[in-house]
Amino acid sequence: MNIAYLSLGSNEGNRQSWMEQAIDSLSVHAGNVFARSAFYETKAWGLTDQPDFLNMCIALETMLSPVDLLTVIQNTELQLGRTRTIKWGPRTLDVDILFFNNEIIQSEALIVPHPFVQDRRFVLMPLAEIASGLVHPIMKKTVAQLLDECPDGLEVKRIS
Ligand code: ATP
Ligand code: CA
Ligand code: CA
Repeated sequence: MNIAYLSLGSNEGNRQSWMEQAIDSLSVHAGNVFARSAFYETKAWGLTDQPDFLNMCIALETMLSPVDLLTVIQNTELQLGRTRTIKWGPRTLDVDILFFNNEIIQSEALIVPHPFVQDRRFVLMPLAEIASGLVHPIMKKTVAQLLDECPDGLEVKRIS
């Protein structure tokens, strides 16, 4: 059994509903979602001129390989109305693999741990809620430490 930590985000339409549907779909197609954070509201990171995001993190037990998990995630995004247009632009649903066990993967299609985990407060805050002691296999720091040291100044508000 593998343990994966995922980040979910949405900034189009009924954001909460897209994310609930994503969790339902991942529960069916990927495995048991055994932990989930609250929802957090964040100004857009990177490409800032777009609606605010809702973000959360979940923990998943899965028998899938990392690449198969990515395929399930991409199918879920497509089913929930994701169209790929502008890089970092608005989307109904974005699901990223943050961690997969303590594996380090660097292929063209998949980089794990996700390369921006340590740079994004909107990822670290919800992640710290469900996995503050988890150690980043490259940086050798816990999620709590990464959050403490994160230079990202964008406000992240816990909303539920
Ligand atoms: P960012 O990765 O900076 O958060 P994004 O989520 O907007 O940007 P996408 O357009 O959703 O980027 O994904 C682009 C590609 O990233 C995907 O097609 C996928 O192959 C690749 N990718 C690499 N590593 C990961 C990962 N850990 N989780 C999800 N996708 C990944
Ligand atoms: Ca992303
Ligand atoms: Ca993504």
